[in-house]
Amino acid sequence: MAIIVQKYGGTSIGTVEKISHVADKIIVEKNNNNDIVVVVSAMDGETNRLLDLAKKINPEVNGRELDVLISTGEQVTISLLALTLIKKGYDAISLTGSQAGIVTNTVFNKARIESINNSIIKNYLNNGKIVIVAGFQGVTVDGDITTLGRGGSDTSAVAISVALDAKECQIFTDVDGVYTTDPRISPGAKKIDHITSEEMLELSSQGSKVLQPRAVEFAGKYDVGIRVLSTFADGTGTLISKENEQEMEKAIISGIAFNEDEAQLTIRGVPDQPGIASLILGPIAECNIEVDMIVQNVGEDGLANFTFTVPRNDYKEAKKSLLKSAKNFNAKKVIGNDKIVKISMVGVGMRTHAGIASKMFSVLASNNINISMISTSEIKISIVTDENNLDTAVNVLHKAFELDK
Ligand code: ASP
Ligand code: MG
Repeated sequence: MAIIVQKYGGTSIGTVEKISHVADKIIVEKNNNNDIVVVVSAMDGETNRLLDLAKKINPEVNGRELDVLISTGEQVTISLLALTLIKKGYDAISLTGSQAGIVTNTVFNKARIESINNSIIKNYLNNGKIVIVAGFQGVTVDGDITTLGRGGSDTSAVAISVALDAKECQIFTDVDGVYTTDPRISPGAKKIDHITSEEMLELSSQGSKVLQPRAVEFAGKYDVGIRVLSTFADGTGTLISKENEQEMEKAIISGIAFNEDEAQLTIRGVPDQPGIASLILGPIAECNIEVDMIVQNVGEDGLANFTFTVPRNDYKEAKKSLLKSAKNFNAKKVIGNDKIVKISMVGVGMRTHAGIASKMFSVLASNNINISMISTSEIKISIVTDENNLDTAVNVLHKAFELDK
């Protein structure tokens, strides 16, 4: 029997009626003679509701107690789904992350999975049960509950797929696949049938919200196929897997992602010496803040300027750290802007095609869009611009690169 892992997001299980619909979909796969493991998120909006409650007590809330709280959303849905399956005459069991043997490190609110004791789930499967596991959560070796960061249920599902050597990891959501860009911004956006994990990793880390980047990274590393599917409509969705030469020769650009959750910080006039980058970025990394685009340019008189982006939520803390560094190195000044967006074009075809960057810049220029930072990799070009330019920039690029065709 093949093992299939299915993950249902919050919008798919937001009401008991929807949970019943999900149960029916699970039953179809079960009746196809498969072993089924289901990973669920909390009901739509529940994690935000819990976070808001905690923020009323302390706006800067984080750490262990927050994880005890926000992990409860998933405990509700595993139980409701198991109860629904049992009511429909199927043998199901719900497991919290801890009960399922999902062990993480001790970084509360952003924990990483370190191991999964797969014999626990396997034993239940061998006894004919449908196993329902709470996404987004795990446990430390000391028994503390942890969560994996927003959207973390995707990562739970992929990690469980790897641990069980599942045939496929099916991620059910409220869209029917991955699109060339967000259809709310570009109505001409098209569904992608097959995309490489490499491209998907870039798209999701650059702002496409369909999958948590860590989940894609995990899947790519262990070579598990992920299929993104709609809970509410039939279809084959989008398959995310290793590069397949015949299929992948197609478009140069696969998609355009954007991230509105960005802020930019600059420290001016730091000494241009070995070690300076690590002295500036080290303390920021120690606060567990992910620094993204980094640009250093040499100014005058042995001084350099250093600019980078951080998630908007971490802007204040990163700025604080930077102001401290500025004092230490006698830097000239620290400036920041938290009203920026990052727009990225992604495609494995860029490897074999020159001139994509210059075309991107000229399209933006002819639409009067000012670029404040640029970074490129083998399969991606990202720019930073004022947040007011977002819609226009995405639309003109989507058209210019014929993603609507
Ligand atoms: N419930 C968590 C969140 O809202 C995890 C998830 O949905 O994947 O972020
Ligand atoms: Mg999600």
